[in-house]
Parts: sequence; C-alpha cells; structure tokens
Amino acid sequence: MNNSKPLILVLDMAGTPRKWIDFEKAAYYHCKDLIRWTAGQNEVTVHGGVSRVTGERSELALNSIIALGGVRPSKRAIPLITNSALFRRDGHQCAYCGDHFSKAKLTRDHYVARANGGKDIWGNVVTACKPCNNRKGHRCESEYSDDMYFKPYVPSLSEHLLLTNKNVLDDQYDFLTKSLSKDSRFETIYSRPTMEQGNADYRAIEY
Ligand SMILES: [Zn+2]
Repeated sequence: MNNSKPLILVLDMAGTPRKWIDFEKAAYYHCKDLIRWTAGQNEVTVHGGVSRVTGERSELALNSIIALGGVRPSKRAIPLITNSALFRRDGHQCAYCGDHFSKAKLTRDHYVARANGGKDIWGNVVTACKPCNNRKGHRCESEYSDDMYFKPYVPSLSEHLLLTNKNVLDDQYDFLTKSLSKDSRFETIYSRPTMEQGNADYRAIEY
C-alpha cells in the first residue's frame, strides 16, 4: 500500500491537465486566490499553524483537481521520455518475451534500431529486458515485429501525468483517462483506484 500523500492535479485555464503539485503549493495558490475552479470529488484537509491570538489551528480544505489562473495552455504536445515513464507505460513487461521485470532489469529498446535510423521518440521505444535487447541486436524490425507482445505508442499528456504519479486518486484517474490515446493500454494495465485516499487529514509544512 502506498502511504505517500496524494498530489493535486493542476489544469490550465482551458481545462487541460498540466502538472502535479503538492498540498503545500496548492495551499499557497489558494491563499493567493489563484484557484479559478475545481473539478475533483475528493477534498483534502490541510492543517496550518496555531493562531497566537485565538489559539486555534487553521484548517484548509483543498480540492484534488484545481484550475489555476496564470497557467498558460501548454505548447508541448508530446511529453518527454524517461525510462520510469516508459516502463510504467508498458507495465514493466518486456515487449519481446512478455515477462515482467523490476526497473533495474529493464532497458529502453528502440523498435527500429538506432543503427538503422530509428529515433529516440515515444513512437519508437518499448520496454525490453536486457537479454531480449541484446539478442535483438541490430536485426531489422520485420524479423521480430510479428512476435512482439505490444507495439510502441505516444502517450497523451494526460497519460504521461498518470505515468509519473503512482498515487493517483479515483477522481484524478477518471479525469485523466478521458483523454488517453486510442492505442493506450493504461486502463488494461492499471485498474481504477478504489479508495478515496484524498479524504484524509494532512499536516502542511508551515510557511
Ligand atoms: Zn524479454
């Protein structure tokens, strides 16, 4: 079970998912009155400091999905590739033997080998275990293509956000899975979270 604090999903003014922020940052945006609307069902209560005047601890309920003023729509349509996100996209499964491995035993494999002109882009990379990657060498893709367990695809920005947060709340999962690419395997690999992990109290770092 993952006990880390859930993150808040930030949308730009057009309603496009942009990034994850922690509660402390969200509390800051709340105080600056930059939260324009909310779209989540979960609320998280953050406790602040004790008032010297009243002796009461301040409390703030934050929505799990917030749209911020001042966040411009993204110009980048394709998310950056990292090995962690790639292995998560492919469910830590090797595309060639179909077995599952830990991150340390996996590699970023180029479907069309780099030596054959293949690029380092989402549409040309798959997860492969080290032995399969070595065995494949510089062979032409037509020699292994038909035997692959899955093919590479470009994740949408929403899927990329899902791939870079292991503690997604149920409402965030619902929101982000609405805009997956047609080739996405995300929902078959990762089931919807059932716990409403957001409805818990968390102590904020005091400013
Ligand atoms: Zn393998």
